[in-house]
Amino acid sequence: MTEKIGIVGAGIVGLAVARELATVRGAEVTVLEKESRVAAHQTGHNSGVVHAGIYYPPGSLKARLCREGVALLKDYCARHALPYEEVGKLVVASTRAERPLLKALAERARANGVPGVAELDALGLREIEPHAVGVGAVHSPHTAITDFPAIARRLALDVEEQGGSVRLEHPVRAIRETASGVEVIAGRRRFAFDRLVVCAGLGTDAVAAMTGRRGDIRIVPFRGEYYELAEPARDLVRGLIYPVPDPRYPFLGVHLTRHIDGEVLVGPNAVLALAYEGYRRRDVRDLRRIVGWPGTVRMAGRHWRTGLKEIYGSLAKRAFLKAARRYVPELTAEDLRRTEGGVRAQAVTRDGRLVDDFAVDVDGRVVLVRNAPSPAATSSLAIARHIAALVPALVR
Ligand SMILES: Cc1cc2nc3c(=O)[nH]c(=O)nc-3n(C[C@H](O)[C@H](O)[C@H](O)COP(=O)(O)OP(=O)(O)OC[C@H]3O[C@@H](n4cnc5c(N)ncnc54)[C@H](O)[C@@H]3O)c2cc1C
Repeated sequence: MTEKIGIVGAGIVGLAVARELATVRGAEVTVLEKESRVAAHQTGHNSGVVHAGIYYPPGSLKARLCREGVALLKDYCARHALPYEEVGKLVVASTRAERPLLKALAERARANGVPGVAELDALGLREIEPHAVGVGAVHSPHTAITDFPAIARRLALDVEEQGGSVRLEHPVRAIRETASGVEVIAGRRRFAFDRLVVCAGLGTDAVAAMTGRRGDIRIVPFRGEYYELAEPARDLVRGLIYPVPDPRYPFLGVHLTRHIDGEVLVGPNAVLALAYEGYRRRDVRDLRRIVGWPGTVRMAGRHWRTGLKEIYGSLAKRAFLKAARRYVPELTAEDLRRTEGGVRAQAVTRDGRLVDDFAVDVDGRVVLVRNAPSPAATSSLAIARHIAALVPALVR
């Protein structure tokens, strides 16, 4: 009999997993999504960058699945006429002190097999981005931009073409394991599956709790705010301009990214949010749960200086402008307009460490994606293969 697999979450990871299990494994898949559209959260609120794999420690899941994911995604976009543009990325050092970090980044990129990586001096970087300044840069010519929500919609179509279903407005409310499978209450219906794969992003902990697997890491939401450049200033940026990241954090720092629709985004910063879907500063719905996790308090204690800086950046356009002008000094306050941001689902340990790598737990019939922050959109098709390999088909 055909294996029945339920997937919670119609973000790019859940949909990629559903497609993989339906097409390669021949499973009967049902995706349960609480919102009225796919890609409603992280997948629809990000920078749209297909990361090349520069940053991640060699040997990590992020390093491996990002490189594999890029190849799969590029091919997928070509096959389905989805946008994919190799605009290239510059990681720019603005001070001499950043040079050793830049050098280490170039070495890491090569160790990860990122193609075409070049180290440029102050003149060389201006050949790529004529309006950028810095003492040096790493250039990754194949870093690309795409439209992740469009990819998610195409994945949903693939699922349906394989006989699977994507059920929108089906919030998962209860989960019960029986001797023969997993029962799920979603919306007003009851579903019976052989396996359940949870790809719930910001909702991970709530769904994990329904399965009785709270786990020892928790999702802490980090809001990422963006500005966009007004029309004439867009021409100051050809592709992607990033700072040298602070090695203590998994966030990449405020960057300038050309979007597939021609807009240029400035951001995101990283501010602790007080609601899982806390897109606005005043959202504090989940304060108790977020601050109740000892890891949040320990993390805040450890990183309070950076935290205050990010909060200041969140309140003051001036701080955002200053970050962008470090790399593109011609920008002025009039060029920046506030635009929609996103909220990252970042796992944090009990002792307050940000979990750096992707994390997937397999326990009996339940698979829980515990940590799938950036570059999980880039890596989604490879994450799907990875998960399919972790759970052998059930024979009934
Ligand atoms: C500001 C920002 C910038 C980023 N930039 C990039 C980038 O440039 N490149 C890149 O590769 N990655 C980037 N990322 C990361 C990337 O967006 C995410 O890693 C990726 O989208 C994760 O996909 P997902 O499917 O796991 O999560 P999501 O897209 O958040 O999907 C999870 C889904 O689960 C649903 N859900 C939750 N609870 C329930 C429930 N109880 N019942 C039913 N459904 C439920 C939610 O509604 C949601 O639709 C960025 C993220 C952010 C926030």
